[in-house]
Amino acid sequence: MIQKPKGTYDVFGDYGKKVLYLEMLFQSLMEKYNYEFIRTPIFEATDLFHRGVGETTDIVSKETYDFLDRGERKMTLRPEGTAGVVRSFIENKMYTNSSMPVKTWYYGPMFRYERPQAGRYREFYQMGVEAFGTSDPLMDAEVISIAVNFYKLLGLKDVKVRINSLGDSESRSNYRDALLAYFKQHLDKLCSDCKERYNKNPLRILDCKVDHDLDIMHNAPKISDYLSNEAIDHFEKVKDYLDNSGISYIVDDNLVRGLDYYTNTVFEVEADIPGFGANSVLSAGGRYDHLVENIGGPSTPGVGFALGMERLINVLEASSINLNIENGIDLYVIPMNDIVKSYAFDVTNKLRMSGFKVEMDYMNRNLKSNFKQADRLNSHFVAIIGEDEMANDYITIKNNITKEEDKIDTAYLVNYLDEKLLQEDCTCGDDCDCNHDHDCGCEHH
Ligand code: ATP
Ligand code: MG
Repeated sequence: MIQKPKGTYDVFGDYGKKVLYLEMLFQSLMEKYNYEFIRTPIFEATDLFHRGVGETTDIVSKETYDFLDRGERKMTLRPEGTAGVVRSFIENKMYTNSSMPVKTWYYGPMFRYERPQAGRYREFYQMGVEAFGTSDPLMDAEVISIAVNFYKLLGLKDVKVRINSLGDSESRSNYRDALLAYFKQHLDKLCSDCKERYNKNPLRILDCKVDHDLDIMHNAPKISDYLSNEAIDHFEKVKDYLDNSGISYIVDDNLVRGLDYYTNTVFEVEADIPGFGANSVLSAGGRYDHLVENIGGPSTPGVGFALGMERLINVLEASSINLNIENGIDLYVIPMNDIVKSYAFDVTNKLRMSGFKVEMDYMNRNLKSNFKQADRLNSHFVAIIGEDEMANDYITIKNNITKEEDKIDTAYLVNYLDEKLLQEDCTCGDDCDCNHDHDCGCEHH
């Protein structure tokens, strides 16, 4: 048997329901924030990621899926969403002044050749946003608020936001000098990757997963001591906006993030659950004021973040949070024999087109096992269609909850179901268990 590639997984059943629910919830949050959907190719020219993500990052140096296409072009399966969105922003000339800010959101698979483990896959899904055209710290705060509010909508309480500022070019270059001077005395204690980072990009040393807990890491110079006045002012404003919207956060001096393109604000949202495991970072992002320019566009500031779908589902499960996923169907249709099957099929489809969730028997089950099947599917009603029903245009319908039985004229079936589903689902007291999808006038609508 051929098996799925290492580090990938199949989506089906209840997991599939969760994925669709989370996608839909994120989409509806994005509508509220007025972000536009964007979808870019899953593979792009390899160069894009070298320039976009950065040569010295783990992602580009160790994790990309690179291949030559049949025309000998160097291609890469995207390891993250930002570079492609920036490429599209430039190529489609989205940068006209009147359209700014351009606020986009995306959802899709990303590919990294990593060691698979819980919460870490080779193909994984990210939802994310990128907002272009303003360097106002208000947009940093907006992007952070999206991450926070998404988790809040889901009822996730155990999350912690960590933020830091990497400053502007001037701050970064002063800080780089300080790091070079500091780590020079400790080079022998660093891992081999970090020794290379020392030469290429010393900031990256602070993001090392191997050397992370060494004392020399904690005692390293802090970026906060090297920020320019402008960068300090930017960071203070971001913090003020967050404070004023009741979004709590922790300033983490050692947060540098694994990508090269960040300037000023960087942030991570982490699951704050004891024993949750090493892969507890749920989402991450920051500001990238030079990325558009680096990729070949006009100088345009930007800020964004991405959240991992798999880790989100893990943390929802660990926190025992049930999503408000509708289970069950409205009606299960039982054709009594072959003669009425086609008629039953037509009734079924018409009801589906009128907005009901309807399933029918495809297995030629007998009546008893069909009723069992209706229970298994959690069907509210069961319709029985025999020859008499077909000849006289009515349907025998049984309410699976109240056990009442009715004979209903086919012409009134839609009205009947509408009325019954509304009455029974939405006798809306406050802790009703209706799905709030009928406008019954309760406080949920
Ligand atoms: P980590 O430090 O855990 O490797 P990262 O810094 O590489 O994360 P980002 O590139 O910032 O991660 O991606 C943002 C989010 O995407 C992460 O917070 C995580 O939820 C998710 N993510 C990243 N890599 C993976 C992966 N291999 N499998 C599943 N989810 C991932
Ligand atoms: Mg990583």
